[in-house]
Amino acid sequence: MTDHQPGLDDNIATLETHLARFRQDGIQNHINGKDVPARSGETFETRSPVDGSLICTVAKGGADDVDAAARAAKAAFPAWRDMKASERKAILHRIADGIVARSEEIALCECWDTGQALRFMSKAALRGAENFRFFADKVASSRDGQSLPSPTLMNITTRVPIGPVGIITPWNTPFMLSTWKIAPALAAGCTVVHKPAELSPLTARLLMEIAADAGLPDGVWNLINGFGEDAGKALTEHRDIKAIAFVGESRTGSMIMKQGADTLKRVHFELGGKNPVIVFDDADLDRALDAAIFMIYSLNGERCTSSSRLLLQDTIAETFQQKLIERVNKIRVGHPLDPKTEMGPLIAKDHYDKVTSYFDIARSDGATVAAGGTMPESKGFYVNPTLFTNARPDMRIAQEEIFGPVLTTLTFTSEEEALEIANGIEYGLTGYIWTNDLTRSLRFANGLEAGMIWVNSENVRHLPTPFGGVKASGIGRDGGDWSFDFYMEQKHIGLAIGKHPIARLGA
Ligand code: NAD
Repeated sequence: MTDHQPGLDDNIATLETHLARFRQDGIQNHINGKDVPARSGETFETRSPVDGSLICTVAKGGADDVDAAARAAKAAFPAWRDMKASERKAILHRIADGIVARSEEIALCECWDTGQALRFMSKAALRGAENFRFFADKVASSRDGQSLPSPTLMNITTRVPIGPVGIITPWNTPFMLSTWKIAPALAAGCTVVHKPAELSPLTARLLMEIAADAGLPDGVWNLINGFGEDAGKALTEHRDIKAIAFVGESRTGSMIMKQGADTLKRVHFELGGKNPVIVFDDADLDRALDAAIFMIYSLNGERCTSSSRLLLQDTIAETFQQKLIERVNKIRVGHPLDPKTEMGPLIAKDHYDKVTSYFDIARSDGATVAAGGTMPESKGFYVNPTLFTNARPDMRIAQEEIFGPVLTTLTFTSEEEALEIANGIEYGLTGYIWTNDLTRSLRFANGLEAGMIWVNSENVRHLPTPFGGVKASGIGRDGGDWSFDFYMEQKHIGLAIGKHPIARLGA
């Protein structure tokens, strides 16, 4: 045993050993148990946001590849659906074991591909394993239903898997989110075509390999890399794909709904957010400060549940903001593989341009840039953690999802005003209320338009609870049994318990 914690150089050296195979072979699609190039022969490059260097080439899937994958998923569906629950459960647990065994490789590759700091990604890999374990243990109850007797009928319900499903994931924490969507689909008995984000293909490939090594039958899990407008679109339009589980931007969700209309696609959307933290003056202000900072500046602020709007009661606003500025200026921006780093670079040039454009928007709209608003000298897409104060609720910085390490503070006088500001937005994913007044917290949570609300807490995910948003933040819920509501169809069977009168037409 050694106490040696790997440092930056150790982590870079280990990463290189894991990247060697990607550099040599690139990333292929995976259809019906086989690695295949795109039918067009086309590839695209994935580059690291840390320094812009090439990681590897990736198969650029299109409609033909999606068609082959959907057919494979359709052919594999009956056997997977009918597999004994104990066998399906055992496979999903073996996937979880495989994730744990390769968690270092997953975390290092994820950091290099996305710019996320290692301190958060090593936990994200393990959370991915937990997702598989949680749903593995639910396989046995996946088909459970109810008994709803009436005077003449014994009515029973049961659930059946909907069929092959398409899963489309974004680039923020792509590994964890992929497990989050794929584990319940497989537990329900669905087969899968996964289209990961084009900006972060590495760990989707590792996850699929782990599943294959765990004994998942061919065709149950197919992986198509490529861009949203071709591979993603083709998946949403494919007749054999019965449902689309999508995580990404609200406007992409809207496109997917249109694309899926002709085939009457069932959709589950986890979309954008501009989530409020509301701090009342009776709260534990030190804990509120820690939570507000963590929820916006961890994961580079590239997090759907981030607390990007901070609503402060005017009686405490000045002091709270002063403490906030001090802390924000001390957040350690650096190489994602440095264990000390708290914030790495943003995912890509386009996103960096979008996030940094808000620095000028804030200034020209009359807000104050109280911290950050600058970019460190670097080849990567680094920005300094940024804080806007003196903002109004109708400003773009208080309304639009920036999806970076950028926080906007607003002030309020009364509870009614706080609620009006919190709800005065198109999104409704999460909300965080800080007060020691129990009745107020209940009243406020009742009025707050959000799918998930925490009181005196940051976002702490508990897998049996429903995860999802209202308004432009999503449709549907994940977690617990709610995931099965999406991946399964309810079936009602009515059995006559006697000879009830049947209307005799034409008798
Ligand atoms: P995005 O919508 O640009 O892309 C997400 C995925 O959709 C990618 O795989 C992309 O290729 C694909 N896609 C794009 N256009 C498509 C189309 N026309 N048809 C089918 N697929 C298409 O999102 P992003 O920029 O990768 O991710 C960031 C967004 O995701 C943010 O808005 C964030 O809030 C949201 N998000 C939400 C949650 C949640 O749980 N609510 C979780 C994580 C991220």
